Amino acid sequence: MTEEKNKECIFCKIIKKEIAAEILYEDDDMMVIKDIRPKARIHLLVMPKKHIRNFNEIGEEDREMLGKMMYKIKEIAKDKGIDESGYKIVINTNKEGGQIIYHLHIHILGGEPLMGVV
Ligand code: 5GP
Ligand code: ZN
Repeated sequence: MTEEKNKECIFCKIIKKEIAAEILYEDDDMMVIKDIRPKARIHLLVMPKKHIRNFNEIGEEDREMLGKMMYKIKEIAKDKGIDESGYKIVINTNKEGGQIIYHLHIHILGGEPLMGVV
């Protein structure tokens, strides 16, 4: 479903490579990039290539893709060497959840102690 894009969306632009980003992984379903303003030593964003506004908008047809994204997070945590030390995965949803970019993305945070955030 890579053709489903939103013209105004900054993450769709990154996916289409109209805006530069440090891309760590990419396949037909998803892209993993470095966050431009890292809140931890390791701060990555995993996003579907399909434009989904946020977690509330996930459809039944997206379940397999989301499962793939979660499994990829596990692999990336191991690749980055933070699987044993520990990490957080976060999905900000809507205003009070702190969502700023309205294209679904999963934050991976690690590489330093992150106690007390949640
Ligand atoms: P949210 O608050 O929506 O969950 O998180 C959005 C995240 O996207 C923030 O951590 C922010 O630093 C990151 N971000 C915003 N614009 C860009 C960009 O153009 N490139 C990259 N790589 N990250 C971005
Ligand atoms: Zn988008």
